[in-house]
Amino acid sequence: MAKLRQSSAADFLPKQRTLESLRAAARSCKGCDLYKNATQTVFGEGPKDATVMLVGEQPGDMEDRQGHPFVGPAGRLLDKALAEARIPRDEVYITNAVKHFKWIHRGKRRLHQKPSIRQVIACKPWLEAEIQAIHPKVVVCLGATAALSMVGRTVRITQERGKFFDTDS
Ligand code: SF4
Repeated sequence: MAKLRQSSAADFLPKQRTLESLRAAARSCKGCDLYKNATQTVFGEGPKDATVMLVGEQPGDMEDRQGHPFVGPAGRLLDKALAEARIPRDEVYITNAVKHFKWIHRGKRRLHQKPSIRQVIACKPWLEAEIQAIHPKVVVCLGATAALSMVGRTVRITQERGKFFDTDS
């Protein structure tokens, strides 16, 4: 029996791979089921010639409402860390491994849920396309989900934090 092909973001990639065309195409991505409950796609932001790319897990509640990455509590923490490292935020490209907010209701709140491996894999074509469009010298994974997407295996942050990995792209 023929194996059913899983859909992914690859089905929605545009022919032209500029950041603008990628961002526009990602707005209508249905590569996994996460688009159904999210307000909008939250694509990466930052300069096209950034040498450093930061990759988080997924948009949170505020990011989902506002449509920009790292604008909620995690964004404030990131701003603090960047300020301590003396890295201007507007010089880095900031994105997420997964571009839609995954959440469940808890009373009136929308509680973050970790994306599944299947959802991380489905969304990876966007992250790969962002990397190919920008060619950063360094990609910093902000957590285990970003590392899973980039390295292609489970990464224990407690054991591998700060480690460098060479990549082909
Ligand atoms: S999470 Fe990624 S693959 Fe899934 S619908 Fe959103 S943009 Fe597409």
